[in-house]
Amino acid sequence: MMDRIDFRSDTVTWPTPAMRQAMHTAPLGDDVYGEDPTVNRLEALAAAKTGKEAALFVASGTMGNLTAILSHTTRGDEAIVGDAYHTYCWEAGGMATLGGVVPHPLPVDAEGRMAHDAIESAVRGDDPHWPRSRLILVENSVGGRYGNALPPSYFANIRRIADKHGLAVHLDGARLFNATVALGIDASEIVQHVDSVSFCLSKGLCAPVGSLLCGSAEFIHRARRVRKSLGGGMRQAGVLAAAGIVALEQMIDRLAEDHANAQRLAHGLAQIPGIEVDVDRVVTNMVFFQLADDVPFSAEAIATTMRERDNIWVGAEGSRLFRAVTHYWVDEDAVAAFLQSLQSVLIQTPSEV
Ligand SMILES: *Cc1c(COP(=O)(O)O)cnc(C)c1O
Repeated sequence: MMDRIDFRSDTVTWPTPAMRQAMHTAPLGDDVYGEDPTVNRLEALAAAKTGKEAALFVASGTMGNLTAILSHTTRGDEAIVGDAYHTYCWEAGGMATLGGVVPHPLPVDAEGRMAHDAIESAVRGDDPHWPRSRLILVENSVGGRYGNALPPSYFANIRRIADKHGLAVHLDGARLFNATVALGIDASEIVQHVDSVSFCLSKGLCAPVGSLLCGSAEFIHRARRVRKSLGGGMRQAGVLAAAGIVALEQMIDRLAEDHANAQRLAHGLAQIPGIEVDVDRVVTNMVFFQLADDVPFSAEAIATTMRERDNIWVGAEGSRLFRAVTHYWVDEDAVAAFLQSLQSVLIQTPSEV
């Protein structure tokens, strides 16, 4: 398994040796009683990292976002959300099915922004025909837009609109630290503009399981009840939280290496005939690239051949598009192996693929 080179996502990351060691020795207790010292330490660390008062350990990014949405809203409320955002597209409609919250999707531009005037005009007045505007959902980095990192100024403007209309703002920061490392800023510079933020431990930070939801002490108090109602009260969760502590202490700054490898990969791809890639769009750890029109194979066929021949895995998105994601377990040599494998598959005659 370990000789697999997997560029499909940063979710495929195994825990690091330091994490396995920390999991082995972590002091534990019943976290539903509030008695797991390792979970408590992780939550305090997450709050400190984001500049919020409190934090809550949850099983996944999806659970963190859903817990946040349910904690900010009641049934019949409406959430303004980007139409390319994870909370709208990839969370099984949880806000609607479980929360009775109406999503109000707005177009997202090439950088991953909703237009401020579009948000402003989406806010509804008090009319019994309409759902109640209550929440704005934002995302950073923006997975549906090449992993782009949006700057604090964007969120400051969202904050102004939210304050004007009495709305809450939740940031889906599944890859928040990829964004902040790329921008060279502290997470709090973005998070100060939102009421709540969730981020994943189990993507580029390499922990096996878990996300953190952060906000005011009062908000997290409510969120703890919501998490319980969703079945997310975990007991000796310190075995998982221990890996999360290592993630926050050791794995954030090194995300810059993943970003450098994404640059290496993109620049290498740009040299391969038949491959089209916009190097300028690579800002964090994601590289999207596509096949030129004259390449006679599908992305899927190429991905299958690379996997079967070289044990190199890449995401084929549609018939011409690929996504490659860099992370801790794919180093410079893996990037070189990837480029070589792709190049050799591309020069095959069609019957060989
Ligand atoms: C991965 C991801 C999530 C949450 O994913 P889980 O698989 O539920 O942990 C949420 N938002 C974004 C942008 C993501 O990339």
